[in-house]
Amino acid sequence: MHGYDLLVVGSANADLVIGLERRPGPGETVLGSDMVIHPGGKGANQAAAAARLGARTTLLARVGADAYGRMLAEAQRAAGADPAGLLMGAADAPGTVDSSGTGGAAEGEDAPTGVALITVDAAGDNSIVVSPGANARLTPDDVAAARDLFEAAAVVSLQLEIPLETVAAAARSAAEHGARVVLNPSPPARLPQDVLALCDPLVLNEHEARLLLADSQSPDSEPGQSPESDPGEWAGALLALGPRSVVVTLGAEGALVAGPGVGTAADSGTADGSGTVRVPSPRVRAVDTTGAGDAFTGALGWRLGRGDGLVEAVRYAVRVGALAVTRPGAQESYPSAADVEAADQ
Ligand code: ATP
Repeated sequence: MHGYDLLVVGSANADLVIGLERRPGPGETVLGSDMVIHPGGKGANQAAAAARLGARTTLLARVGADAYGRMLAEAQRAAGADPAGLLMGAADAPGTVDSSGTGGAAEGEDAPTGVALITVDAAGDNSIVVSPGANARLTPDDVAAARDLFEAAAVVSLQLEIPLETVAAAARSAAEHGARVVLNPSPPARLPQDVLALCDPLVLNEHEARLLLADSQSPDSEPGQSPESDPGEWAGALLALGPRSVVVTLGAEGALVAGPGVGTAADSGTADGSGTVRVPSPRVRAVDTTGAGDAFTGALGWRLGRGDGLVEAVRYAVRVGALAVTRPGAQESYPSAADVEAADQ
């Protein structure tokens, strides 16, 4: 019996959102609405989504010893996540010095909580600037120091808003401790092949799928298949890159699942006979899709941690994703298990 259904290793950001008529051009100043501050970051969102559903979960992340860090810790606690993994304040482990020369914190100095500055114009288009802050200081040493969390976890969920070397260390630690790895390659970056080979599943949206497939065509990589127009074919091409299984999220269209044995279970949906299954999303009136992908992935990780099969877990995750888009915000929009049951009535 695992102590955690799900360990999320990733980012935690304060999302600072300002609405305005028109986004400013270079050198221009415009007036906007009152600023609204939300807890965000892919890691924090996934852990909050899973905890809200009832998962035994914790978030291994780094925030600053500041008001935003406290807000993020409080949001995790309010969602029901165990605060054990959240690191707050100065990164005092070796290897945490910012040598980029871009004004980051020096060794021993406190790094501020990561921030996303988001402006949304009247047409609903946004511009986002992310300052990773403490997220950039989550190191492989932090992963090593958190081995108890890895030992206790059934599933470890990863995204790419923290240093890639930390993601790789977390995936390898998960494998060492017998935990299943779920990985969302967002923002897109090239993963070490051994890390890709641990993903079960690799979870990505259509945009990320296209980028990954296009990247696999670059001259210094293994020959792959070109991006196809049919998502069913992408899934096969993505599997050929090395992950154990693949889930492609398709917004209102639900998700596509591919992997060994997929499509053979009696209840696994419409199988096309090639190990690929399409799972439709419930029809809903979408109000705000922010954080829907994180709600989906958090729910998926939790269900896999509880022992669901992959298709079964995706069937649950699309219901969670669909509910998340019916309410504004990211973490604020995430449903409880009771909400999911009620929506089925
Ligand atoms: P985001 O970046 O907005 O968080 P994403 O692009 O990573 O999301 P999507 O594929 O848009 O991911 O959505 C993830 C899941 O959320 C979908 O698989 C689906 O279950 C649900 N979902 C998203 N949009 C809708 C919608 N309009 N109607 C119903 N379900 C939706």
